[in-house]
Amino acid sequence: MNAAVKELEDFRREVASWLKANKPADPGFLLPQTFMEVGSEEQLEFLREWQHKVWSAGYLGMAWAKEHGGQGVDAIYQSVVDQEMRRQAVPICFNVIGLGWAGPLINDIGTEEEKQRYLKGILSAEDIWCQGFSEPDHGSDLGNARTRAERDGDDYVINGSKIWTTMGNYAKYMILLARTNPEAERKYDGLSFFLAPMTVDGVSTRPIRKLTGEYGFTETFFDNARIPADCLMGGEGAGWKIAMKTLQYERGAEAGAAGGLAFVRIVIDDLIQQLRDVTRDGKPVLEDPLIRDQLVSLIMEEKAISLGDRRSGIPALTSDYPMSLPLSNKLRWTEYARRMRQFAINAQGADGALFVGDDRAREGGFWQRAYLNSFSATIGGGTSQVQANIVAEHVLGLPK
Ligand SMILES: Cc1cc2nc3c(=O)[nH]c(=O)nc-3n(C[C@H](O)[C@H](O)[C@H](O)COP(=O)(O)OP(=O)(O)OC[C@H]3O[C@@H](n4cnc5c(N)ncnc54)[C@H](O)[C@@H]3O)c2cc1C
Repeated sequence: MNAAVKELEDFRREVASWLKANKPADPGFLLPQTFMEVGSEEQLEFLREWQHKVWSAGYLGMAWAKEHGGQGVDAIYQSVVDQEMRRQAVPICFNVIGLGWAGPLINDIGTEEEKQRYLKGILSAEDIWCQGFSEPDHGSDLGNARTRAERDGDDYVINGSKIWTTMGNYAKYMILLARTNPEAERKYDGLSFFLAPMTVDGVSTRPIRKLTGEYGFTETFFDNARIPADCLMGGEGAGWKIAMKTLQYERGAEAGAAGGLAFVRIVIDDLIQQLRDVTRDGKPVLEDPLIRDQLVSLIMEEKAISLGDRRSGIPALTSDYPMSLPLSNKLRWTEYARRMRQFAINAQGADGALFVGDDRAREGGFWQRAYLNSFSATIGGGTSQVQANIVAEHVLGLPK
């Protein structure tokens, strides 16, 4: 074993034992399965404390600079932490928009002042971030965003509304796409990008209730909200380019995330485990040839996705188009996750209709909740249809 490999193995052991010793006890209330379902103060406080603890121990922002609250080591160390967190099924670090895309963006193209101002708060969970891209009628078609930002002295005055703002009601900052020039010849050139405070007068949010009964996102309204002009990132008119870069992080095609897992890990082994004591017509459902056939397909699919994931980390295998695997991976794994969870509740038979809160629901309705929530990831960050277009046009080179 060479020195670097040994060092990494030692680090893995250290992280594993820290997680074992510090994994929080069951809080006695339902924790969100993904960062898109944080909807109560008690969940928020619990997760904020947990993320702070992980960061304080030195396990978040491994590849971010020390002077910005990170650890200044190679990104592989973050992968090790994330793998161990997944293995030990610890709670998620919920500030995902900050850790996963606002932070990496600021790290890549932000000024030193922006880095100093924002990065540490993201890691420590002191500053929660949200994303204000989608508007009513303009989700996939972001280029048509209508929210206005007008320069007035040292401020921009924001008017308009956003929708589906994950954690909008808890966020201190928003990455905001707004129109600064409605007259621009190309609509894309009229957009600008802001690192906008949510705590100024004129910003309000209204929670939206999801199918599961949870509140994970909001409508966000701007009514003559004044934000300082230095919130503008990258100059007026640069918004489209920066938003597209942000989506690359969101869709997993660019790295730099500070870690922490956006989702609770649910894999095929968990599914098989939950079906062990399910019977149909007096026989174990796992002995049913049709169920077994479908299970094998799911197992193969999960394996293929995970191998694809590993291949995407080997540049020699993707040199022709480095983003091809990560881009198709978003489409493949979100659709897979939805089908796998749907299979899980179908296989429960009539019990599949029971939900969280029903004493008779298997595993407290875990799979039913996971199924309903699995639609989120097939829509957020680009719907499957839009993602399929991207893969077709940009990766496979097919005509529009
Ligand atoms: C749980 C969740 C969290 C979210 N969080 C955020 C957030 O924090 N911030 C934020 O800004 N947004 C957020 N979103 C919004 C999300 O990004 C949009 O919902 C998504 O981009 C789709 O936009 P839309 O809802 O306007 O649907 P539309 O764009 O109106 O699409 C409707 C349907 O038409 C299809 N369609 C549209 N255009 C095309 C095309 N060119 N080719 C083929 N099919 C097409 C779509 O695939 C879809 O099936 C979130 C969404 C969800 C579900």
